[in-house]
Amino acid sequence: MKKIIILLLIFQFTFAQIPHLSGEISISIKNGTIESNLEYSNVPKIKNYSLWLNSGLNLRYLRDAEDKFNYPNIKYYDDEKSAEAFQYYIPDGDIKIRLLPEKFKINYVGKFPVISDTLKANNRGDWKGNIAFNGKSIRATEQSAWYPIIYDIDNDVVASKVTYDLTVNCTDCSTIYLNGSAPKKGDSVNFKSNQPISLLLFAGIFDFTKNKNTFFINTNLKPEQETVLSNWTDKIIKFYENNLRIPYGNHVTYLYTTPISKKNAWMFVTYPTVAIIGPEKYNVKSYFSDKTNELNDAANIEYFAHELGHYYFGTVIEPNSELRWIFLEGITEYLALQTIKEVLGENNYKRKIAEYLVEVKELNPKPLSIIKNNEISESYRYYYVPLLLTALEKEIGKEKVWNWLQTILKSDKTTKTDYAFFKSSIIKSGISENDFLKFETKYILTENAKENVIKVVK
Ligand SMILES: [Zn+2]
Repeated sequence: MKKIIILLLIFQFTFAQIPHLSGEISISIKNGTIESNLEYSNVPKIKNYSLWLNSGLNLRYLRDAEDKFNYPNIKYYDDEKSAEAFQYYIPDGDIKIRLLPEKFKINYVGKFPVISDTLKANNRGDWKGNIAFNGKSIRATEQSAWYPIIYDIDNDVVASKVTYDLTVNCTDCSTIYLNGSAPKKGDSVNFKSNQPISLLLFAGIFDFTKNKNTFFINTNLKPEQETVLSNWTDKIIKFYENNLRIPYGNHVTYLYTTPISKKNAWMFVTYPTVAIIGPEKYNVKSYFSDKTNELNDAANIEYFAHELGHYYFGTVIEPNSELRWIFLEGITEYLALQTIKEVLGENNYKRKIAEYLVEVKELNPKPLSIIKNNEISESYRYYYVPLLLTALEKEIGKEKVWNWLQTILKSDKTTKTDYAFFKSSIIKSGISENDFLKFETKYILTENAKENVIKVVK
């Protein structure tokens, strides 16, 4: 018994510890450079770890906290874990043993293409994990590992959330924004956060406004339009809070910027920032009527509903393991679908279901029970999963699906979101094993699973 308690304490201690990042980051949006001189402290005691750093950044050194000696480091690449980053570790004498000091210094530098002229830009090739210099700004998210990120290999936990005391210098910027802090005018700004947060950096030449409690960064919306977007946001958040029974965290920040490719246009979340990326003609303003200041097409709310849903599936729990995409994108899209029904009504809901059905036409879905993370295509995660969960809803009732989602959100931080968890969490939420087996047989395991799903959701 004692042993169990001690183990439990160590276990909790390890993950209660939030790494702290301090130091200076110098960037130039004209030259596409990043130079960082940082110190990591309060580093969790993890034996089997790697340190992620974007593959375009060059390590000058990993150094001891007292600034006396450099650590040796081993560098490798594992695109199953991160396509964007190289992985490093400090060998502890033996090359196989990994040493992670409680405190260390890290210094690195990198230069990236500045793509201000979209004429010579690629058609596609911008994404959340890109470090994007578009001539007017830098955009970099935690997915890019533009700052060093500690990865716990055994638990499959990416510790991208840090507390920080960081000074960002950018002589060719007018404004700097670091996620978790308010945007600030100036070319050298110190940011501090005691709340652990994933770091999104957006610095350059742009303006921002504050409407009630929401920041609008580079969106150029009229105050009336900001209010319209804020009201929709409140409506969606209230719906999620009521059904998931977990209060939404901080107020969101809306951020708009252009991509470094010709055609990419998408949205993403690094909570609490909701970023809208797209060419000028798809900027946030383009969503609104210039005359009425209302949304041109209320159906656009579905994109915001999806992104806002990532507070729960993406921040409250951070899915990992074999069903990462199912829990991260599939469930979030299912949440957006419920929002559409609630705030836009039955017709829009039916239209959305019909859209999903078109998107999965060519899909030959591998059963959830054996699919691997890298086999979960976009049409699987964004369109098939919401249909599959709608089938679950038809069988067990909507209330029970919400109960299940609440159960997932209350699960331990180190939970692996794999098929065993999919099953155990459904049963834990109050569905009998027998009912689960019936659902599993009909909609997951049988050869006709897809046909059965399509039949029941129509
Ligand atoms: Zn998403």
